[in-house]
Amino acid sequence: MRLSQMLFVTLREDPAEAEIPSHKLLLRAGYIRRIGSGIYAYLPLMWRVLKKVSQIVREEMDATGAQECLLPQLQPADLWRESGRWDTYTQAEGIMFAMTDRQQRELGLGPTHEEVITTIAKDMIRSYRQLPLHLYQIQTKFRDEIRPRFGLMRGREFIMKDGYSFHTNEESLKKTYQDMAQAYSNMLRRSGLQFRAVDADSGAIGGSGSQEFMVLAEAGEDEVLYTEDGQYAANVEKAVSMPADAEPSPFATFEKRETPGTETIDKLCKFLKCSPTQVVKNVLYQAVYDNGITVLVLVSIRGDQDVNQVKLLNELTKLAGNYQAKTVLFLTVPDAEAQRKWAAKSLPLGYMAPDVADDYIAGSKEVNSKFLRLVDRTAVDLTNFVTGSNESGYHVVGANWNKEFPLPATVVGVRTAKKGDRAVHNPEQTLQSARGIEVGHIFQLGTKYSQAMGATYTSEQGEEMPFIMGCYGVGVSRLAQSAVEQSYDKDGIIWPVAIAPYHAIISIPNISDAQQVEVAEKLYAELNQSGIETLLDDRDERAGVKFKDADLIGIPYRIVPGRSLKAGKVEVVERANHKSHEILVDEVNSTLKQWIEAAIS
Ligand code: ATP
Ligand code: MG
Repeated sequence: MRLSQMLFVTLREDPAEAEIPSHKLLLRAGYIRRIGSGIYAYLPLMWRVLKKVSQIVREEMDATGAQECLLPQLQPADLWRESGRWDTYTQAEGIMFAMTDRQQRELGLGPTHEEVITTIAKDMIRSYRQLPLHLYQIQTKFRDEIRPRFGLMRGREFIMKDGYSFHTNEESLKKTYQDMAQAYSNMLRRSGLQFRAVDADSGAIGGSGSQEFMVLAEAGEDEVLYTEDGQYAANVEKAVSMPADAEPSPFATFEKRETPGTETIDKLCKFLKCSPTQVVKNVLYQAVYDNGITVLVLVSIRGDQDVNQVKLLNELTKLAGNYQAKTVLFLTVPDAEAQRKWAAKSLPLGYMAPDVADDYIAGSKEVNSKFLRLVDRTAVDLTNFVTGSNESGYHVVGANWNKEFPLPATVVGVRTAKKGDRAVHNPEQTLQSARGIEVGHIFQLGTKYSQAMGATYTSEQGEEMPFIMGCYGVGVSRLAQSAVEQSYDKDGIIWPVAIAPYHAIISIPNISDAQQVEVAEKLYAELNQSGIETLLDDRDERAGVKFKDADLIGIPYRIVPGRSLKAGKVEVVERANHKSHEILVDEVNSTLKQWIEAAIS
């Protein structure tokens, strides 16, 4: 392609709308253009990158025996009602764009495709003989993200590869899951990314085991905890660890103490000269279940620990049956306004005890009249502890479970693991922390969707059995931008060779120099013919401008037919390290071939 004929517009300045380097660079270098909030046009250079990433994804998927298909983006609400996710996706998370057609039928734009694929399996897979089966697609997804940001990282319209597998037994599912873990590692390695596979929470998609593939980068929205020995890595949402030991309590007898202005653990510990590990703190949450019932949740946890809301949400989902509900729609820390809806009198916030009375709640049809009291494991073994007194400005010290306070019946593990904690598999290892961009997520779904949607096959024994399912997603557009986030310098993007839009760019320093033009044209034709994807910068611009643009758009090799032509050579500059080589014109093709092969093998 000739730059003189391309839509080639680069910006000198960083666009104000972009916060992270990869977003700035893709905008400046003319790869993407913002059309609306979370909505981007992929311009020709970007589209080439996306096609290359898709092709790597496709090759790795096909190698496992999965088959490509294309599913509809318009999805009838009825399918989502069958799986029980219509309300969660349109109201609670609100992530699905929903609409009503002219016949008053409700539809959603596909944020994911479990419902569609399960319905197909239900109709078309009759017998165990047809299993296992794995279908995938590469397609645009729609999600009404509450905070679209960072360009393609979190768009409202983005490209995903999603695959779904069907099995008759767990072993078969596990085998495909392992194959996918390997395929995902291959995809990321081939795309030139540094990444880590981590244990993950399964979230709203549901199911049991799951792993995320994290591209390591400062701008990542996720925190990953891992050990140096390589034995453990998990998303902080899921991570487990051993908490620090509690210090023995200095308070031998139970008494109430005046502790003015100590509504935080920090202030309290300073005032009482004690350790936060001797405190039971009581944190209030408000959960709304899918039947509209609000439940006030009081979590008692050791003072030096924090509640992990993802783990708490999972515990509350398990308890949904106690409230005749199926799932939790919202989980929040109730602010003053939220409290006004149910509080019978003002709460002793910052001074609450594990036994704070239920009559603080004005029960109603929508609000459960009793606190759901949970105790985290870190608080269960504490003795002579400090905690609230249910009276502002006062705490109690020297308290014990089942003496002054009944131990809540439900013991949970909802603490947040953090950097520096000892690892469970080996207490000599401490957890380290890194930022990551989640580019892939693989799940063992089990029978969640097949059961809900009545999708069964006939087993060898002639029984109707629900499919055992897995699902596997890669954010193709997010992956492409992550590559930039991991690889750039002050001059611009440094594409990994495997996913660069072009391999080489010939920058003619002076288009009025006939010899320069002649060599450039010859190389341009020859390189493209031999499969080295090459751009020709034939614009009437100064050499400096052309070199700057070539660096900005990040093409791996820049070829300059300049001064060295006298010796029958051109200059070839490697984008990644600015190394310059003088190469005979006749040897440019073979040299580049070698370099490219070495870079993508
Ligand atoms: P996140 O936690 O980042 O919102 P998710 O858990 O919702 O991701 P999945 O539903 O597992 O993501 O989707 C599979 C993959 O699709 C993700 O690993 C990610 O790479 C990509 N992805 C998800 N949401 C977006 C988005 N809004 N924009 C771009 N890519 C996305
Ligand atoms: Mg999401």
